[in-house]
Amino acid sequence: MGSIGSNLQEVKRRIEAAAAAAGRGAESVTLLAVSKTFPAEAVRAAHAAGQRAFGENYVQEALAKIEALADLRRELEWHLIGPLQSNKTRPVAEAFDWVHSVDRLKIAERLAEQRPALLPPLQLTLQVNVSGEASKSGVAPVDVPALAHAVAALPKERVRLRGLMAIPEPAGDLAAQRVPHRRLHELLDALRAQGLALDTLSMGMSADLEAAVLEGATLVRIGSAVFGSRAPLASR
Ligand SMILES: *Cc1c(COP(=O)(O)O)cnc(C)c1O
Repeated sequence: MGSIGSNLQEVKRRIEAAAAAAGRGAESVTLLAVSKTFPAEAVRAAHAAGQRAFGENYVQEALAKIEALADLRRELEWHLIGPLQSNKTRPVAEAFDWVHSVDRLKIAERLAEQRPALLPPLQLTLQVNVSGEASKSGVAPVDVPALAHAVAALPKERVRLRGLMAIPEPAGDLAAQRVPHRRLHELLDALRAQGLALDTLSMGMSADLEAAVLEGATLVRIGSAVFGSRAPLASR
């Protein structure tokens, strides 16, 4: 791996190539740098290289990092991409800009109640279980329309539903990787056809960025290709 700055350049090159292959402009894909397990200083280095949007999985770890980088708060956008328990919604509503992992109405309702009125609305995506694994979190595709309409009906000054997110099972080749991403895109199109104004498809990680962009991702969540490989959980 190179430096964070050169890794960011390489990831942007991959996004540009995939977007060009899909006949899209690279500016239609937002790069979310996933900084989980990496220290605040790594985020600072990425910021110095021009990166603005960062994704975190673990609420406590993220809050400490946001605090450590308070001097940059106006320039950074913080996205929660990991699971959210209902007893942790308040600090998330107060500290983050986006939550990608909404998978039940209760979580969205609590975020709407707890979002401070002085902040812009919290931007939300629904996490969808496109791979159908019982162990994975996310709402089942069949339940997406009802949840989407319910979340979209919450007070818009507090929470704004933007689209869908998925973490597909790893797949070997590009064709196999594209299948779940296409499924998520079709679910988004169906919601739009029902009148919901949604613009975000949060899909694609270091290993399947190309497949996701080819299938219409508007935001890719990239960790290891930017920051390097993560230490195993047990040694953190
Ligand atoms: C860790 C993580 C990523 C980034 O994964 P990489 O393979 O390191 O790019 C993206 N999305 C979610 C939800 C994650 O937990």
